[in-house]
Amino acid sequence: MESAAERDQSQAPWLAHFMRRGVPGGETMRIATLYGPRDFRLEEWDKPQITADDGVLVRLRAVALCGTNIHYWEGFGQIGPGIPVAYPLPGGFGHEFAGKVVAVGPRVTRVQVGDRVALDPSEGSACGSCFYCAMGKTNHCEQPRHSSLFGFVEYMTSYERGLYKLPDHVSTDEGSMLSAIACSVHGVRRALTPGDTVAVLGSGRLGLFAVAAAKHLGASKVIATYKYDFQAQMAEACGADVVLRGTEAGVEEKIREQAGGRGPDVVVETVGGWANTIQQATDVVRNYGTVVVLGTFNDKVPVDTWQAMYKDVAYVFSYINCRQGSRTDLDLALEMVAKGKLPSKEMVSHRFPLEEIQAAFELMTRKDAGPQKAMQVVINP
Ligand SMILES: [Zn+2]
Ligand SMILES: [Zn+2]
Repeated sequence: MESAAERDQSQAPWLAHFMRRGVPGGETMRIATLYGPRDFRLEEWDKPQITADDGVLVRLRAVALCGTNIHYWEGFGQIGPGIPVAYPLPGGFGHEFAGKVVAVGPRVTRVQVGDRVALDPSEGSACGSCFYCAMGKTNHCEQPRHSSLFGFVEYMTSYERGLYKLPDHVSTDEGSMLSAIACSVHGVRRALTPGDTVAVLGSGRLGLFAVAAAKHLGASKVIATYKYDFQAQMAEACGADVVLRGTEAGVEEKIREQAGGRGPDVVVETVGGWANTIQQATDVVRNYGTVVVLGTFNDKVPVDTWQAMYKDVAYVFSYINCRQGSRTDLDLALEMVAKGKLPSKEMVSHRFPLEEIQAAFELMTRKDAGPQKAMQVVINP
């Protein structure tokens, strides 16, 4: 039987780019590997070891599930531009982590063994000195270093730079949501001027985080659209001033009315998939306003470019998170959770051990099922 390392290279050579395996130390760990659409298998792979002076080994305790995970699990779409999903897909597509530091390299000073941390693998593996890193845009680093294989695994190695210590009152499960909150913070802060009226289209996870981020960053009024009733309640708990059902007739007019008749200064699109919410955002944003696109789409999206031109609309497409000014997006996300700016404890609706990962993914596809809604599903490896 071929080794896991050989499999990385032969089946999915692109994996080596961003999730090279750690140096095997003889010990093994459990990993949930996807062998095909909806086909998870539990395996034992090599446990990674620290190889860098600033390296950190983390025992993952929470991996938050994300919408993109579901796309891959269902066998649909791409894992990146022009990169189709290739099976077997190691746990690598899970990417929102928190856990406990269990070993540190000799030059690590900011964290110690025993600290509970959230991890930002993108910031952590950034080189720190290239053109984009010098700008703080670590999400576009030109020479990222290798993390160990990551995803639905028990252990991963990263680097000190990408670790965020969790305060005692923030749980590890909440910590695993910080990367996703940071994605919403990233998009919102690129467009928002304090005092703006903001519409957030969609009250799924990213939408709710965008509502909370907009309020935290100084929006004077936030209007959120939703699909399910429980999302409406959550949007209000995140600080939305107005909630509107996104599918109801005339919702665009209602959004404009709530924003002084002219339309919101900023519209944050968070739906993606097959919806054409970029067009809806273009319809409702005021002239000279900004549309932020956080959703990931299943196909290329048509937009009325004449309308966009006549309205002088600016579009901001937003890719994960990084730093703007003195604060990283994840730093602000942690501040929001630590200060109770969103109901993060209530948002963690379901927890599953690694052995039940299949059930966790199935639940994610039934968003409106069950008395307890699937807001944030967390795997506890
Ligand atoms: Zn994600
Ligand atoms: Zn760099």
